Amino acid sequence: MRSYHLIAPAKINLYLEIIGDRHDGYHELAMILQSIELADQIDLEANDVQSIRLRSDSKEIPVDKSNLAYRAADLMIQEFPDSFATYGGVDITLHKRIPVAAGLAGGSTDAAAVLVGIDLLWKLGLTKSELEELAAQLGSDVPFCIGGGTAIATRRGEILSPLSGLRGIYIVLAKYRSLSVSTAWAYNTYRSEFGHTYIKDTESLAARGNAVHSGDIVQAITRQDAKEIAQKMHNDLEKVVLPEYPQVLQLKESFAKYDILGTMMSGSGPSVFALCESQEKAEQVKFSMREEIPDMDLELFVTRLITHGIQVVN
Ligand code: ATP
Repeated sequence: MRSYHLIAPAKINLYLEIIGDRHDGYHELAMILQSIELADQIDLEANDVQSIRLRSDSKEIPVDKSNLAYRAADLMIQEFPDSFATYGGVDITLHKRIPVAAGLAGGSTDAAAVLVGIDLLWKLGLTKSELEELAAQLGSDVPFCIGGGTAIATRRGEILSPLSGLRGIYIVLAKYRSLSVSTAWAYNTYRSEFGHTYIKDTESLAARGNAVHSGDIVQAITRQDAKEIAQKMHNDLEKVVLPEYPQVLQLKESFAKYDILGTMMSGSGPSVFALCESQEKAEQVKFSMREEIPDMDLELFVTRLITHGIQVVN
C-alpha cells in the first residue's frame, strides 16, 4: 500500500483588517498570513475498504465527519470518483502538535495536507491553483496553507498574493490550554460593535483590499525589516477579544515587558505571539514568561517563521 507523510505548518496573522460585510455572511478582509515551523504531521495510507478512516493522538478534536481533514478527503472523493474507485479509500492519522481552536489554522492546515496527499496517492497531478480552488471550498484559511510562506490574503482570505519569504525571525507563542475563542463569536461581536465603520460600496471595498498591497507592513516585509514589521502589525479582532478575555490581554502585557520586537494576538485568538530577532532572545523570553506565569495551563513554544506550506516527507 502506498503511504505519504506530510508536515502541515500552523500560521499566524501579521495583519488582520476587517473592511466590510459580504452577502454570504462572511467578512471582507485584508490580511497578511505567515507560516510558522510549529506543525502537525499527517500520515496518509491507501486502504482497500473504500472508505475514509481517521484517527488522531489528540482527544481535543473530533475524529468523525466534522473533522476538516475528513471533509478534505470526502471532497476529493466527490471530485474524483473514478480515482477513488481505482485507488480505494484512505487511512488518515493526525499527529496534533498545533494547539486547537487557537487562531493558528490547525484544522485548515490538516485539510490542506490531506488534499496534497490524496493528489499524490491518486496520481492526479493537480496544480497549486487547482489545489487552492478545492481548498477554498473547505474554509478561508485552507488555500493559504497549501503553499504557505508569507502572503497577502483578501476577500474571505482565499485570494492570495505571495510576498518575499521572511527568514531568521523567531516567535514565542503563548496559549492557555483550556481557553478557546470561537471564531464565529469574534467576528459577530466585531460586526455588532464596529459594523457602523464598515465600507459599504463594492468599489471602495475593492480599493481598500488593494491598498494593503502598498501598505507600510508590506514594504517592511519586502525589506525584511523585522523591527518595522513588528511595529506595523495589527489585528482588528483584538478590539473585541482582549476586553472579553483578560488572560489574553495579560499575555500581551507580559510579553511587552521583555526584549521583543512586538506582540500580537493571532487570528481570532486566544494565542498571542511575540516577534523576536533571534532564537536566543526567544528562548530567554519564554523562560521569563514561564517564571512570571508558572500556571501549567499556559503552553509556550519557541518557533520560527518559515517560507513554505505543506511538505511531503517521503
Ligand atoms: P483558524 O485560525 O483557521 O480560525 P483555529 O486555529 O482557530 O482556526 P482550529 O484549531 O482549526 O481553530 O479548530 C477550530 C475547530 O475545528 C475546533 O473546535 C476543532 O474541534 C475543529 N476541528 C475540526 N477538525 C480539526 C482538525 N483537524 N484540527 C483541529 N481542529 C479541528
